[in-house]
Amino acid sequence: MLTQPLVSQSFLDALECPQCSVGLHLGNDELECIQCGARWPVIDGIPCFSNGDGDLSQTDAESLLLDTARYGWQAAIEDHLARNGQMRHSMAIRQQRAAWLPLIGLRDDAIALDIGSGYGTITHALATTVHKVYSVEAVPALLEFTRLRMQQEDLANVYFVRGEATELPLAENVFDLVVVNTKLELVGEGRTKEDPREIHVRFLRRLQRSLKPGGVLIIGGKNRFGHQRLRGTDHSGVPLTNLRSPSIASLVSPHQSTHYRTELNPIIQHRHTYCEYGYKKLLLESGFPFATFYWAYPRYNRPSALVSTERQPLAAHVLRTISDPSLGSRAGRWGRLLKFKLARLGLLRFFIAEFLIIAAKDGNGDPSQNSKVIQSANSLLPKESRITNPVGYLCSITEAGKSVILLSEHNEFRTRLVIKTWARGSTEPGTLVQVHSRVSEAEAETDRFMVPAPLGSFTLNSRSYAVETPAEGQSIAALILNSPPRKRLRFLEVQLPMCARAAMGVSRVLSATVAVPGIDSTWLTIPDQTLLDRQIASYINMEASRWKAQGVRAHGDFSIENIFWEASGRRIWIIDWAHVIEGVPPLYDVITLLLSAVPALALEHREANNHDVRSEQQFLAAFFGAGAWAKANAKILHTARARMEHTNLDIWKQFLLSLVIRANDFFARKSKLANQYCRLIELASKNRARFVCLGS
Ligand SMILES: [Zn+2]
Repeated sequence: MLTQPLVSQSFLDALECPQCSVGLHLGNDELECIQCGARWPVIDGIPCFSNGDGDLSQTDAESLLLDTARYGWQAAIEDHLARNGQMRHSMAIRQQRAAWLPLIGLRDDAIALDIGSGYGTITHALATTVHKVYSVEAVPALLEFTRLRMQQEDLANVYFVRGEATELPLAENVFDLVVVNTKLELVGEGRTKEDPREIHVRFLRRLQRSLKPGGVLIIGGKNRFGHQRLRGTDHSGVPLTNLRSPSIASLVSPHQSTHYRTELNPIIQHRHTYCEYGYKKLLLESGFPFATFYWAYPRYNRPSALVSTERQPLAAHVLRTISDPSLGSRAGRWGRLLKFKLARLGLLRFFIAEFLIIAAKDGNGDPSQNSKVIQSANSLLPKESRITNPVGYLCSITEAGKSVILLSEHNEFRTRLVIKTWARGSTEPGTLVQVHSRVSEAEAETDRFMVPAPLGSFTLNSRSYAVETPAEGQSIAALILNSPPRKRLRFLEVQLPMCARAAMGVSRVLSATVAVPGIDSTWLTIPDQTLLDRQIASYINMEASRWKAQGVRAHGDFSIENIFWEASGRRIWIIDWAHVIEGVPPLYDVITLLLSAVPALALEHREANNHDVRSEQQFLAAFFGAGAWAKANAKILHTARARMEHTNLDIWKQFLLSLVIRANDFFARKSKLANQYCRLIELASKNRARFVCLGS
């Protein structure tokens, strides 16, 4: 527990008495309003404006804090929340939750407020970006957890306040940014006797008042008419409550539902949601004259894309996600095509599930800095090829804090520019520039692959941006997932062999003049020694040191998502050169390619219900089977081996070592695939005798 006093005068400047709107005086372990005499305790250095305990049990809270102090905040969350289901787990850890950061232009000296900070994920992201963060939360154990989390991350610019969202003691004109860390419909849900809309207006007005001129509010909300609403239930657990009038909904919900949200507030249906127009009206009434709406895709809690609700960006995004591998098994192909049709007609915005709203206190236009970014990127093009009416949206958000913005001409679906952005300070490797110049010199060569052209970079407020041309054609992932399963074997006969040949070319291009970081030795060791018997482990070690010494270079993430197939079929494009690496086995990129295609091709064992079981069975069928899939993979691997300068390659050893490197790579990226790859290493070593390239 911290001992130093946490309530300083500059801390108090942001607070005032919620009743009298005058500043607070710090007395003996309490804050006092000089005007009305109201007092609030300061407990462990945290001013307390509320005294609820929330839904965390005493035992849970105690062990969470104990584990956080002992094992670190990440391990503690893993332990405590994995039990409560994956969603809460990922919400608590993922910085992805603050994915909107690149869209707002925060200055270094900005002051931000995080309301309902929970496990501190947004507070954490903000603390690394702005000058000061106020973290407000009603549950004391969560506040203490966040405080430990910040301590362990060496972030000392966070002030903590215990309080309810609806009774905030906030002073006027203090914040540059206010984030409401929950959906609007959940604000004030415990207040059973008041009209929910009035609660929302009062709440938003309070926030509007606390913002500085030019300040920005970030808030999320479900769409009243979102397609999920139309299909079924909302937080109350009762079908279609959002579409009914609140009075009817409140008559129905207490009798029908046992959902926990309804138990919390069984009297009136208080999860009042709005459509886009409804939110706009509500915000206007609360003093926010301008707001931009984004489709938080797939969910508000963990968006992988934030898409403007304008017609063109929505349609372009749907077109892209029709081929999203992560959606391949869930949403049907026809459903996705219908979505695209709706988007093209400009109707999809009425049915999207969840909004992220960026609202401005003043009416001087778009509150996001999207337009500045788009302008700066566009100006990097030669005058004659500039985009005359550019539209951009945040299309992919990675957990490492990097995001990609796609830029198109208005009413055109083709991407014209790709803008990569990351927090200033972390550096973007300049590999693409070098690789691009090497590939351009070697255009006459026979590898037949291209890379995007780097156009330049710039810095805006606290972020860096790099702009490049898009790849031509469609990603192999998109092509595979959009073709019917019976046609997918063809990819192993045509597209993937050509990609494998390009992978060899990558090695050659990288071998001259391009500066490449060497592989970390820890990546060459088996993540879990119990996975393999000692003999296999020892020859993996030998194999690893052999290739490390050879200095073989690879793209590092040569997966079907990163390879684009030109419509002509003559060339492929390879994107995302951020993971270029030296010291891997020569077949590393080829093996990575074939591994990445396994879940998309899904040529066998498509019927297994459990996702893990299915991917393991497919892995075995692809590399240890006797069917067409395994034969095609074997052919690609043998051809690749034969083209290498080394003659005595043992594909099997390279295969195992590549799995080890892959597992470590996923661990480093904190991807859930890491554990799956550990399991694949074990499976591979157990099935050694059936490996496709052994014995032929
Ligand atoms: Zn007062």
